[in-house]
This record gives sequence, C-alpha cells and structure tokens, in this order.
Amino acid sequence: MKVDEIFKVYKENIMSTYTKVPLIFVKGKGSRLWDIHGKLYLDFFPGWGVGSLGHCHPKVMQGVRDQISKLIFVPNNYYHPFQAKLARELIYLSFPGKVFFANSGAEANEAAIKLARKFGQGRYEIITFQNAFHGRTLAALAATGQGKYQNGFEPMPEGFKQVKFNDLEAVRQAVTDKTVAIMLELIQGEGGINIANRDFVLGLRKICDEKKLLLIVDEVQTGIGRTAKMFCYQNYGIIPDVMTLAKALGGGLPIGVMIAKKELGDVLTPGMHASTFGGGPVICRAALGVLKAMQKEKILSNCQNMANYLLEKLTSLKNNYPVIKEIRGMGLMLGVELNIEGKSIVQAALEHGLLINCTHDKVLRLMPALNVTKKEIDQAVNILNRVFSSALQ
Ligand code: PLP
Repeated sequence: MKVDEIFKVYKENIMSTYTKVPLIFVKGKGSRLWDIHGKLYLDFFPGWGVGSLGHCHPKVMQGVRDQISKLIFVPNNYYHPFQAKLARELIYLSFPGKVFFANSGAEANEAAIKLARKFGQGRYEIITFQNAFHGRTLAALAATGQGKYQNGFEPMPEGFKQVKFNDLEAVRQAVTDKTVAIMLELIQGEGGINIANRDFVLGLRKICDEKKLLLIVDEVQTGIGRTAKMFCYQNYGIIPDVMTLAKALGGGLPIGVMIAKKELGDVLTPGMHASTFGGGPVICRAALGVLKAMQKEKILSNCQNMANYLLEKLTSLKNNYPVIKEIRGMGLMLGVELNIEGKSIVQAALEHGLLINCTHDKVLRLMPALNVTKKEIDQAVNILNRVFSSALQ
C-alpha cells in the first residue's frame, strides 16, 4: 500500500479513537525505529511502556518463531508446558501465590477487581487515587476515576472512591465497613509521573493489614524492570496482596497477568472468570524470552546505570533551561515537568528524530528501553538540547 492510501484507509475504515501522529513505522531494532520512507528514529518511549527490551528482541523472536512452528493456540481447558513455565517464573520473581492470565492491563485489573469483590463477600468498595489510570474497560475506568476518560460513558460501575494520592489520612477516612481493597500505581504514569512516598505505601500496607483489605498494586507500567527492580513494589519493602502486569512482559505481544498471594489463590473457582486467549503458548514463549533476556543481559543493572546517567544529563539540561521545573521518576521511568505545555517540545523532538511522550499536559515522559546505551542517551539529550534552545529563542 502507498502512503496516501494507508492514511485514506485509516480515515475511512478505522475508528478514530486515537490522536494519531502521521508516521508509518515498518521496522524496529532495539531503540531504533524506521518509518516507511526509511527515516530512522530514536525511540525513547517504545510502545508506551511495552518496549522494555526495545523493538524485536532476539530472545522474544526466537521463542515466538519456535512456538508458531509447533502449535499456535491451546484453549485454557487444556494444559501446555509454557504457561506452566511462565507462571512458575513469575511467582519465583514476585511472591508465593497464583497467576491468572489475560491479554492487557485493563483486563488484568478487571480480574483483580473481580477477585477483590469475590474475596469481600459483600464488601465491594475499592479505594483508588486521584490522577490514577487503570485502563479503559468499564470497571477499570471507574477505578481510574478521571472525568476526562469517563465523560459520556456514565453510569460508571459503582464501588470506587478516589482519594488524594500520598495522603494517608484521606485513605483512613475513606475506609468504611464496605471497603475491600486499596488499588494504586506506585508511580502514576498517565497521571504525570507521581511517585508514591515510602511512608504512604508502608501506611497503606498497615491499613490493609488492620482492616483486612487487599492491597492491589497496578504494575502494568512500572513492572518488569522499569524502576531497576523487577517490580516497583520491591523498592518499598512491602509485598502486595495482588499485583497486575501487562505491557513490557510480552515483549511486544499482548499479555495481562494478575498475581494474587497464596491465601487468595483459590478465591476464583472454575467458571468464575476466563479469557479465551489469556496465556496462550505464543505469548508465553515471548514473555519467557523477555524474562530470560532480563537475566542473561543484566538488564536491571543496566537500567540503574543508565537511569543515573540520563538523570545526570537531564539535570544539566534543567540548569540551562529554566522552563524545566522538575525532573522526577525512578529507574528509567522519568518525567520532566515543564512550565509550558509539552506538546510542541514532543513535536520538535520528533522532527529531529527522537520519539518521546508528554503526559498530563506539561510532563515530558521518557521511558527508553532498559537496554539503552550511553551513546543513545547522549544522542537523545543532544536532540532535547537543540529542541529547547530553538523553542525558547
Ligand atoms: N494500568 C496502568 C498503570 C497503565 O499505564 C495502563 C495503560 O497505559 C493500563 C493499566 C491499561 O493497560 P492496557 O492499555 O493494556 O489495557
């Protein structure tokens, strides 16, 4: 298909639910992406958090290739060895418990919400936080609690209460005898890279223990090494009752996972929840490829080293450009908060061949692949330097 034809088909045949950038990508390798004209881009926001190993990692491709040549699909009323292997691996890396496989972050969160309600036996309220993002399906949207995503889709499923992030007293006051869980992102990604304070998280754990509530952490964006620990909760010294994962775990293929601690492992019984495609053999091979690469290529330590390096470079940019208000984040999940709207900066970076994102209007979001190199960071920061110097003339 020619370029104009592709755009035309999109306009006429695909629902316009996304604000689209007029770029057509056809090839990717690591932190690099090529468009249909052969132009090369440096991708510092690969796949909205999906590309933790960059594009087309060999270990992912190898597993997928091998699996599709043998058996593409097995429904969940049968067994297959790679679902077992992936579940065992995820439990080994996190906490003793059981896994449910789905296909996306929103689905993993839906599963967590259903599990909490079933566990609650009549208690059904879930406390979530202002500026949270948990997905677009109806219950996940109700948990998200932001008008801009909900408008037009009311009534929302009931039973969700949003309180101020990092405000333990607000949480305490929101708990009633109907409360069953507290659900949060430890770093709010879509909400502007807001980091949960340590005391806040320890306090939530304590409230959950005292009131017999489930602590559900949504690690859809922070999980699988993004913060230089396999899971972000490991930075806080707590263990959640339920964790959800998606994005980076599939290495580019769709996956969603809910992990519930051992005592909750049998709350959902046959027929209560399901997903036709969840945890199919191909995606399990891809995810096992991701986990293997993380270990063999020492991805977590590269993430920490490169995070320190990028932070240092961004801090010197901040010293040169007062328009940069604050730099915050953990590992390679970094937000650069500006005094101005970030849209034009993202556009100018793109014109210079660098892909980044802006969230919450004024926060540039950088989430490069965890195997990014110093050289790639230098290139990206040079581009940002050029962009800021010409934008602010
Ligand atoms: N939870 C968090 C923290 C997210 O960042 C996202 C997506 O950005 C989701 C859930 C929804 O994931 P998905 O788009 O795979 O449904």
